[in-house]
Amino acid sequence: MGLPPFRNEPYLDWNDQENVKRVRAALEKVGGELGRSYPLIIGGKEVETEGEIVSVNPARPQQVVGRVARATEREASLALDAATRAFADWSRTAPEARARILLRAAAIMRRRKAEMIAWEIYEGGKPWPEADAQVSEAIDFLEYYAREMLRLKEGAEVHSVAGEESRYFYQPMGVGVIIAPWNFPTAILTGMSSAAIVTGNTIVMKPSEFTSVIGAKVAEIFFEAGLPEGVLNFCAGYGSEIGDYLVSDPRTRFISFTGSMRTGLRINELAAKPNGQKWIKRVIAEMGGKDAMIIDDSADLEAASSDIVRSAYGYAGQKCSAASRAIVHADVYDEVLRRVVEKARALRVGAPDGPEVFVGPLISEPQFEKVSGYIEVGREEGERVLGEDPGDPKDGYFVTPTVYAGVDPKARIAQEEIFGPVLAFIKARDFEDALAIANDSPYGLTGGLYSNDREHLERARHEFHVGNLYFNRHITGALVGVQPFGGFGLSGTDSKAGGPDYLQQHMLPKTVVERF
Ligand code: NAD
Repeated sequence: MGLPPFRNEPYLDWNDQENVKRVRAALEKVGGELGRSYPLIIGGKEVETEGEIVSVNPARPQQVVGRVARATEREASLALDAATRAFADWSRTAPEARARILLRAAAIMRRRKAEMIAWEIYEGGKPWPEADAQVSEAIDFLEYYAREMLRLKEGAEVHSVAGEESRYFYQPMGVGVIIAPWNFPTAILTGMSSAAIVTGNTIVMKPSEFTSVIGAKVAEIFFEAGLPEGVLNFCAGYGSEIGDYLVSDPRTRFISFTGSMRTGLRINELAAKPNGQKWIKRVIAEMGGKDAMIIDDSADLEAASSDIVRSAYGYAGQKCSAASRAIVHADVYDEVLRRVVEKARALRVGAPDGPEVFVGPLISEPQFEKVSGYIEVGREEGERVLGEDPGDPKDGYFVTPTVYAGVDPKARIAQEEIFGPVLAFIKARDFEDALAIANDSPYGLTGGLYSNDREHLERARHEFHVGNLYFNRHITGALVGVQPFGGFGLSGTDSKAGGPDYLQQHMLPKTVVERF
């Protein structure tokens, strides 16, 4: 297929008033569609359920964004059946044909970009630039994985001995269960689903209960792109109600999960138990982080402070890659702290009604309660130099940027994932100490080093134990095909979404040798 080379979808320029107008118009149009109901889609058929998920706008919790059917084990079973039936045909469909459906989905998403951004704003509480980045990333996954499948379709080169032909190629696996989080509801759901589908598998797609309307929209785009019935089964529901069932069921061949460490470890454990299936289930899990930025005494302190703020407070810190620990050399600690507090104080907080808002609401009341709890814990563990006590969640799930200074590396707010706009400042004696503090975490997702010292940079390159390490820049917003993304340790199964090794995890490599 003669495709142009992959390039990332460009972000919208908010100085261009046309873009602002387009998104405002989309917000108005989508505003007229709020509160609608969405069924499950199983085997190409709409399926209603007794229960429903009521999804609300986190900036205005009284506003219902939509009502989505809520699968029980009964519907989950129907979805696994439909996916099992569809596998026979889909797995034999030519890789080019599968890739074309992704390319078509990318084109549809591009055409519906403003609308998808609007859904992100309403249901995800995303500031405009974050919502745009989300939809762009989803388009990138579709474009990138389509090309990756074309690259991998012939398999890989192996040697043949004289008189024989050795072939090494990839086969689809079977039925995949896709379980997504709420924080990147368009991008991660699209990425995990498209990787599983383009490699010839069929899927049961379970979006997060907090962003199920966006899940329904993503599924709709795949169907509009021409995905045959049963290849994708939209199965919204609560993880606590259908998660264990989907993971344990013997029809499930693999699970692709992104979410918290707790859920990921449970999935890994349940998937390992034999339950009548004739395979060892594969688990691809992307989990949490407690990401650190080290600032040494040779760093550009102004740039470092700006990038700490950007990394800590973008999407209110609700990114697995968000900086939640600033580990700063003692000699520059006070200066960096002063600058970070000053910059973070200036951030615009509020409902994402325009492109200038930087910190929106947290996603949900449980998340608001969790982060509020950590703000209380922080009082015992550090000095709050920025931040206010959270208000009434009825007015939106807002928490303002918060900085705790003088935090011990072993404190709970320095060890546990908070997933909110809360940053712990930790003083390090020297670079050695800083690196040891950074690595003293069960997680290993992203990390950053600000330094002008070549020796420090080279040491960190090998000894800072994270899957995504960034020097002299922010540590969030990984781009597909440019910064393949995924963590070490208890941050996941060491894979890299949006990278050259990702699709292979959804396939079985096979060796066939013929003697002539
Ligand atoms: P979560 O673990 O609460 O939920 C994630 C998904 O798992 C949801 O769809 C949920 O319904 C489902 N689930 C819950 N219990 C389940 C069970 N027993 N079996 C199967 N599925 C179940 O996580 P969340 O709050 O939605 O997302 C935030 C978390 O995701 C954070 O920890 C964040 O760091 C992580 N995350 C990681 C990455 C990454 O790439 N490493 C990316 C985004 C988010």
